[in-house]
Amino acid sequence: MAEIWNTQPTVDRLLSEAKSGAERLVQAGLIPKLTVVRVGNHPASRVYVQKKVQMCQDLGFGSDHLQFEESISESELLATIIGLNNDKTVHGILVQLPLPDHVNAEKILNAIDPDKDVDGFHPVNVGRLSIGQDGLFPCTPMGVMELIRDAEPQLSGKHAVIVGRSNIVGKPMAQLLLQANCTVSILHSRTQNPQQLARQADIVVAAVGRPGLIDADWLKPGALVADVGINELTDADQVARFTAPDSKKRSAFERNGRVLYGDVNFDSAMQVAGKVTPVPGGVGPLTIAHLMVNCIRAAERSRHE
Ligand code: NAD
Repeated sequence: MAEIWNTQPTVDRLLSEAKSGAERLVQAGLIPKLTVVRVGNHPASRVYVQKKVQMCQDLGFGSDHLQFEESISESELLATIIGLNNDKTVHGILVQLPLPDHVNAEKILNAIDPDKDVDGFHPVNVGRLSIGQDGLFPCTPMGVMELIRDAEPQLSGKHAVIVGRSNIVGKPMAQLLLQANCTVSILHSRTQNPQQLARQADIVVAAVGRPGLIDADWLKPGALVADVGINELTDADQVARFTAPDSKKRSAFERNGRVLYGDVNFDSAMQVAGKVTPVPGGVGPLTIAHLMVNCIRAAERSRHE
């Protein structure tokens, strides 16, 4: 039986690194600042933004929240980004997605100065990551990498399987594990015999967006399993398939008509794996903690320009 992979010690370490980094910079006369740009009134993104802004304040550095009407034009938004790029008091810029349909999100994200790109989505940072240069890299895979390093200091030669090849999770995760000298396989929707490949892995990172896809059949005994997926289950049959009748998740579903579930079939994976991260409360907090680390890195980098 596996252990629930508690991500909190890694989260606490990252937050304390960000806090001490902020203190060092403030003592040297530089107040790190994150500016979050949000368009429209998507309720979930409002909550995410508030969380990020609050966390900056808790860690002792500055944050701003620029809120625009859904009707803002692409050129106005671009002008805002350029203004923030030129503002020396702003070290990190984050554009909260999704953006409205009339705005080309790629154009907006590509306009962010790569050295202020705390999400790490800019093509310059993607390139830096792939050739092993210093830069700002996506927060979810960076956080997961820290978690993996804390659990397994000897990563060299380990086989890591990543399920999913998105630009924001799967691909950067593969680059980070490769840099740590892992042998990396990326599985995706067209992969044949994915279970057979995944069963060879010492480390599995699931970033698919398909509830409960990865079960015991995908896992080698003792594997480390990081579940990035966040899926909202609203279907009673699906909930019955993945959760035990007396479980907390089942009662949460009965209360709210919805429950969050990962890409890993948790109960099944726990029969075989070594450690499995829970959803929610596993990878999510690592992502936001690494965003704080990226803000400090961006502020530190600005001193050497
Ligand atoms: P995405 O939709 O961009 O990519 C999904 C990937 O999964 C694709 O590359 C696709 O090829 C692959 N895929 C689809 N079906 C598959 C199958 N049957 N077998 C193997 N691979 C398959 O998703 P994303 O943005 O990478 O997000 C993935 C999940 O992670 C989502 O649930 C998302 O909500 C979650 N997420 C969580 C965090 C966090 O902080 N915890 C951050 C980002 C994303």
